[in-house]
Amino acid sequence: MYSNWVNIAMEIKKGIAVSPGISIARSMIIDSEDYRIPRREIKPSQRLVETQRIRNAFNDAIEELTRLGAQQDLAESGKIRDIFAVHLRLLRDRSLRKKITDLIHSELVTAEYAVSKVLREFAAHFSSVKDTYISERADDIYDIERRLLRQLLGKKREEVKGLSEEVAVIARELSPTQTAGFNKQFVKGIATDAGGRTSHTAIVARSLGIPAVVALEDLTEIVRGGDTVIIDGNRGIVIVNPDEETTLQYEKYSSEFLELEHKLDAIRAKPAVTRDGTRIAVFGNIEFPDEAEVVLQKGGEGIGLYRTEFLYLSSPTEPTEEQHYEAYAATVRFLRNRPVVIRTFDLGADKQTQSKRFAPEPNPFLGLRSIRFCLQNLMMFKTQLHAILRASLLGHVKIMFPLITNHQELMQAKMILRDVMEDLDDESIPYNRNIEVGIMIETPSAALTASTLARDTAFFSIGTNDLIQYTLAVDRGNELVSTLYSATDPAVIRLIRMVIQDANKAQIDVSVCGEMASEPDYIMMLLGLGIRTISITPPMIPEIKQIIRSVTIEDCNNVARKVLSMNSERHISSFLRSAARKILPEAF
Ligand code: PEP
Ligand code: MG
Repeated sequence: MYSNWVNIAMEIKKGIAVSPGISIARSMIIDSEDYRIPRREIKPSQRLVETQRIRNAFNDAIEELTRLGAQQDLAESGKIRDIFAVHLRLLRDRSLRKKITDLIHSELVTAEYAVSKVLREFAAHFSSVKDTYISERADDIYDIERRLLRQLLGKKREEVKGLSEEVAVIARELSPTQTAGFNKQFVKGIATDAGGRTSHTAIVARSLGIPAVVALEDLTEIVRGGDTVIIDGNRGIVIVNPDEETTLQYEKYSSEFLELEHKLDAIRAKPAVTRDGTRIAVFGNIEFPDEAEVVLQKGGEGIGLYRTEFLYLSSPTEPTEEQHYEAYAATVRFLRNRPVVIRTFDLGADKQTQSKRFAPEPNPFLGLRSIRFCLQNLMMFKTQLHAILRASLLGHVKIMFPLITNHQELMQAKMILRDVMEDLDDESIPYNRNIEVGIMIETPSAALTASTLARDTAFFSIGTNDLIQYTLAVDRGNELVSTLYSATDPAVIRLIRMVIQDANKAQIDVSVCGEMASEPDYIMMLLGLGIRTISITPPMIPEIKQIIRSVTIEDCNNVARKVLSMNSERHISSFLRSAARKILPEAF
């Protein structure tokens, strides 16, 4: 069905495998959420043409909006009509149009660039205003920018939402929010030019169980909409317009892979116990409440990391306390009394709320992200803590603070939590006063001071995705340096060992919830270093359990000992791969 009768050259691209599985489907190329418009200069003689293009784009956008507004059902869509009215007012604003045409004349730039520059400056101004109502207006400006650019570029943005046939999504880059919105019934595979192994888009693709390959550099320049594309999320390969023989090979490989998955599913109800009787707790990571079902289906024992920031990312406005509560209550009730570790929101870096996207920081991974953002936005933070505490009576809830870099930050976060507890007392709302409060260890500074942090925290969870990036100074989402991003760098391994030792001395629990624990290659080493609890991407639970059930702790200790004696990242990787291959050859 997918074979290529027309004689089009087959192309093979190698990227980074980030979500396992094989897909063979027709490609659908989608734009990233942002059109990135490069600065292009024009000749003075082209100024009038570009100005006329602006006039046409505005007129067409106004016409389009008026038509869409008229099509809305009067009774049901008052809100949408209001939004359209605001957009129309802005589009009719002469001063906005003048600013854009002035830029074309003064800087001799294209219409697209002028639109983008002026509207983004405008939006950045709105975003930076503290008032949430005003800062959220940045979204409207952003929408207008896209509408105008669509007119200028003559592109119709293809909609992934209304899909009715299976596709492979091809994009330069995707945001975590875009990816989270994919319907996995139709989106069979994902391949992007940009991205890294632990970029949040990759993590979401894994959670959804959609095969994905990233860091393909120029794939979007090779694929055209409708081409047949094979996405091999196991080996990091994308094949465009495969010939018949390749297609047949992949169809066979795909069914073998599905068979393996099916076989592994059979062990989901069995405990993760090593051959010599050591019990390992295997939890799942989730972004949305409905993923909790997959965790249990795959044999997870609870939720070890609930990335609550996706609640903020999937909505254009800040969630209300009730929305928080409903999400947590649904998850906790579903899990009954199994543990649910709710991580307070980890916004910033590559997870920006809609209203903040126009005020980019020069260095967002080192900027106002995570717990730092919480401590500077206390109302937002307290709203979330209030909701978590209310949900704490419904089951076994724990709170976890992300990206703690020093002891003072931990104490501040705990103080805010105490304030919220007092508020609940004043309001006579019951909650679990003894709720366990833990932290993520994601920075070298936290790892190096783990013994101090351990005194004031109930548990550690090692966030290796960030720990690797901050230890090795490698942006986890940047394909240009992706080969430098490695879980097997001796520096990373030594920090992990140090955290485990300090946690053991302080007698607090320590787990790993970064993607490293979901990798068949690394699990033996982690157990050998002393890890007894992991929280992983749900689709990998059976495979990782299978490895745990096939080894002894003695085997793992030997692996860890050997690794600690090695100095080369490359040697460690190949040593670990061959050790894992011996245990579960089918997975490789
Ligand atoms: C991590 O950094 O390892 C982690 C689990 O958190 P996130 O991937 O959400 O940054
Ligand atoms: Mg992290």
